[in-house]
Amino acid sequence: MPDGTTVLVDGAAGTVAVDPPEEAAADAHRRAARARADADAARGAARAPVTTRDGAPVRGGANAASAAEAARAVAEGADELGLVRTELLFLDRPTLPDEDEQAAALTALLEAAEGRPVVVRTLDVGGDKAAPALDLDPVRNGFLGERGLRWSLNHPDVFAAQLRAVLRAARGHRVRLMFPMVTTRDEVERAREALDAARRDLDAAGTARGDVEQVGIMVEVPAAAAAADLLAPAVDFFSIGSNDLLSYLMAADRTLSSVAPLRDPRHPAFLRLVGGICAAADAAGIWVGVCGDIAGDPELAVLLAGLGVTELSGAPPAVPAVKAALRAVTLEEAQALARTAARGPGTYPGGAPRAPGGAQPPGQQGTP
Ligand code: PEP
Ligand code: MG
Repeated sequence: MPDGTTVLVDGAAGTVAVDPPEEAAADAHRRAARARADADAARGAARAPVTTRDGAPVRGGANAASAAEAARAVAEGADELGLVRTELLFLDRPTLPDEDEQAAALTALLEAAEGRPVVVRTLDVGGDKAAPALDLDPVRNGFLGERGLRWSLNHPDVFAAQLRAVLRAARGHRVRLMFPMVTTRDEVERAREALDAARRDLDAAGTARGDVEQVGIMVEVPAAAAAADLLAPAVDFFSIGSNDLLSYLMAADRTLSSVAPLRDPRHPAFLRLVGGICAAADAAGIWVGVCGDIAGDPELAVLLAGLGVTELSGAPPAVPAVKAALRAVTLEEAQALARTAARGPGTYPGGAPRAPGGAQPPGQQGTP
């Protein structure tokens, strides 16, 4: 193709035209300008907080792992950062980042969040997240092995350095700390003790620090989901890790595309479990978010809000569409959709509407 040839690529239609007629090129320019203006308008609207059409507050967050991603989330209108995967600082390198490096990276990310609440998750290595510096064993640290909080509790020095880094970075920022892969209440209590010890260590050394405003857990192990009422009194919030929870619940490995259809977030088994988690949280007065990939899907966001979820945190570019979908429904409509979906196709024909888990889905939960 000679230099200067005009090529028209239409990503939406999946077409490419070489040397298109003048009118087609002009039309493409007009459509591109309109698409840019629509996206800008959606982004502008996304900056305002979200309520459903009848005024129930739902927060639209985004996940970020670096200062650049945090800035992107803010630009897309995120109310908060619902998941910071701190392990990304540990992957793809031969040595561990020390406490100072961790504190500096987190500080940069928190600054980019411009005062919004930020949920910082402690190390979640193992499973699908390999880290050369940690010499992880694919079986011992596999999906059913020592990963997430299990690994941190067994490596107290690495855990303590990370907790100190979080407390140092929290100065002047709104940080919520979250533990991944929790299975039992005992694990939460041991993690909270480690946090207390990190505070004491910094104070004894006279090191300046801030503090975390809330402590929560990922609900991504089916045992934690099924017995959420036993965990709720020990924390300030739950964040549902739907990537792992769906995989463990459906016994369908999250890295295998051949079983991907089984990891269906509309399956009644999953929706009922989410309804039960929300009911347990509501009874304890704490809030529930979702930070797995499904939180970035506008239709699923509505279903999840109908089940009682009050914070959705997916990929940054998803924020405007998720917020728009939540604004378009009333809470009652979302609850009705969730009830129908949780009953499943062909179940309870003509029966009275029943909420997932047999309880009425909670409309409101503890305030964030
Ligand atoms: C999840 O499991 O849904 C989650 C958000 O955590 P990760 O994908 O990092 O395991
Ligand atoms: Mg997970």
